[in-house]
Amino acid sequence: MNTFTYARPGDAAEAHRLGSAIEAKYLGGGTNLVDLMREALERPAALVDVTGLSTTIEEREGGGLLIGAGVRNTAVAEHHAVRTRYPVLARAILAGASAQIRNMATVGGNVLQRTRCTYFYDDDGARCNKRTPGQGCDAIEGFNRTHAILGASSACVATHSSDMCVALAALGAIVHLRGTNGERTLPITDFHLLPEGHPETETALQPGELITAIELLPVSFAVRSTYRKVRDRSSYAFALVSVAAALELNDGKVKDVRLALGGVAHKPWRAFKAEAALKGQPVTETAFRAAAEAELSAAVPLRDNAFKIELAKRTITAVLMELATEKA
Ligand SMILES: Cc1cc2nc3c(=O)[nH]c(=O)nc-3n(C[C@H](O)[C@H](O)[C@H](O)COP(=O)(O)OP(=O)(O)OC[C@H]3O[C@@H](n4cnc5c(N)ncnc54)[C@H](O)[C@@H]3O)c2cc1C
Ligand code: SF4
Repeated sequence: MNTFTYARPGDAAEAHRLGSAIEAKYLGGGTNLVDLMREALERPAALVDVTGLSTTIEEREGGGLLIGAGVRNTAVAEHHAVRTRYPVLARAILAGASAQIRNMATVGGNVLQRTRCTYFYDDDGARCNKRTPGQGCDAIEGFNRTHAILGASSACVATHSSDMCVALAALGAIVHLRGTNGERTLPITDFHLLPEGHPETETALQPGELITAIELLPVSFAVRSTYRKVRDRSSYAFALVSVAAALELNDGKVKDVRLALGGVAHKPWRAFKAEAALKGQPVTETAFRAAAEAELSAAVPLRDNAFKIELAKRTITAVLMELATEKA
């Protein structure tokens, strides 16, 4: 067992100062980090507990919400404004993990949870470029049924695990950060990175940077929105494919649409091609399927996961049909 220090700072400035120390890690609910420490995949010298910080959900001027990074996942899913104005987010959170884990997990920790690639966790027997850069990747020729079909590289084919982040990608959420040079914001779609040659670099976070909040913008399209997760078991399983979608209609045509996919890429995958294909289109199954085909045209299957391509197309089409026929 590695020894480590523990601190519970009283504000974000203090947290950032402590969190900038070498080998310090921020601690949210610990539902991922503590597991990784038990497996010796993470060996922090200092834990900086940020669960007492940024624990509110605030209304923004002009609409929108600012969700503190320390808010528990359950509290976000149960919040009235989230359920009524951004139902896709509440549904995505409730599709993840278990009630006990959601009660502990924080927004910041959910955004930064690590991949569930089994080779990543197998420190004794498997090669993994994410764990040990340059080592090789045993998933590419191995058991890769759950791995990526979009945006992968020859270095890593892992998928991102968060359900919440897929909804945040569809909503175009903004990540608020505190770092050495003060505060900054980033669109969530730019926050997580594709693996390319460096799968060990998973986000645009600078060393020691702290997530302080997630901002939801005041958007009209999100009222008619939902999340569907396809998985091996009906609960307590990560997505094979998931779809977060929002649809705004006008006179039988698509006025605005947002689509993001989970379980298919190294990051929550915003389906920009499908969105572009759908704008102005009539609300028909044919148009929805064509948009799904456009998005998945870039998919590259591995030995065991070609089924995800058709699964993603069908799930996109079905979710859009469900939204289109939902009563306003
Ligand atoms: C059995 C099981 C099943 C699960 N199933 C699902 C599922 O179906 N879908 C799903 O989406 N998730 C699932 N999860 C993952 C779960 O959602 C995550 O473990 C959880 O969201 C992580 O949140 P946390 O607050 O506990 O983070 P922690 O474990 O505390 O931290 C995770 C990472 O975030 C960093 N961190 C935390 N807060 C901040 C901050 N404010 N700023 C910067 N860095 C920070 C930590 O340093 C660490 O690197 C499952 C987990 C388990 C154990
Ligand atoms: S897919 Fe990525 S995380 Fe999994 S073994 Fe390969 S490099 Fe590691």
